[in-house]
Amino acid sequence: MGKIFITAALTGGLITKAQNPNLPEQPDEIAEDAHRCFNEGAAIVHLHARDKNGKLSSDPKIYKEIHERIRAKCDIIIQDTTGGGPHLSLDERLSSIEANPEMASLNMGTMTRLLEPYKGTMQINPPWEIERFAKTMSEKGIKPEMEVYNPSMFVDVNNLIERNLIKKPYYINLVIGIRFQGGLPGTPKSLLMMLDQAPALRDVIFNVTAIGKTQIQLTTLAMVLGLNLRVGMEDNIYYSKGVLAKSNAQLVARSVRIARELGLEIASPQETREILGISKNTQ
Ligand code: ZN
Repeated sequence: MGKIFITAALTGGLITKAQNPNLPEQPDEIAEDAHRCFNEGAAIVHLHARDKNGKLSSDPKIYKEIHERIRAKCDIIIQDTTGGGPHLSLDERLSSIEANPEMASLNMGTMTRLLEPYKGTMQINPPWEIERFAKTMSEKGIKPEMEVYNPSMFVDVNNLIERNLIKKPYYINLVIGIRFQGGLPGTPKSLLMMLDQAPALRDVIFNVTAIGKTQIQLTTLAMVLGLNLRVGMEDNIYYSKGVLAKSNAQLVARSVRIARELGLEIASPQETREILGISKNTQ
């Protein structure tokens, strides 16, 4: 088994400080948190920007400021969201990559949010927009992280491969446990079923993201399967039942401890760049 790598999803688009006051929102908080996650063993940091009031923003200037602050501290791989969040248009979502990250998320398929206050809003990703996002990332040398929430979204992955819009190795993040229409429950069966239905290609690298209360169990299952994983407050604001996470670094540190107990080695950011074929020189 090769080394596995860990992504820290620090902020997200839906969580607020009212839910967990330790959520990093402003560039200095995000950079500090990213550095702490790097020190604990995370190789990639997944970012969502907020404005001065903590409201979701796609302003590339804010992303740039976050990048510069992170780069002043460490060489963790920077991955910006293009999934954005409620009330952002497709163009706004894509504008985050004007800040020139090494990686960016690329959502497959379309879903509907089910929980208040965003109940009924859509995560819209028709195939032609997925293609446009992939093309723009490819032109900028940005590695896409294809987010797949149910097996029908593998159709969109295969479409990008067939149209030669993404390069090997294909990086797929299997996301389970999200409370969206189109999402799957956070169970081992969901994860195993997704893996069973995934494109049977040699050049696919999988990551596992589990939203909500089964985050630790399912990301640990990912490790047992030799897969990479994502943790962080975007996906789960708790450390354990009823106990809020003190920081994203605390969640990274726990997964690193478990990985070591399982006899797994954790890849550094540079080793992860080699695994994913990232050669982009940022900033
Ligand atoms: Zn995200």
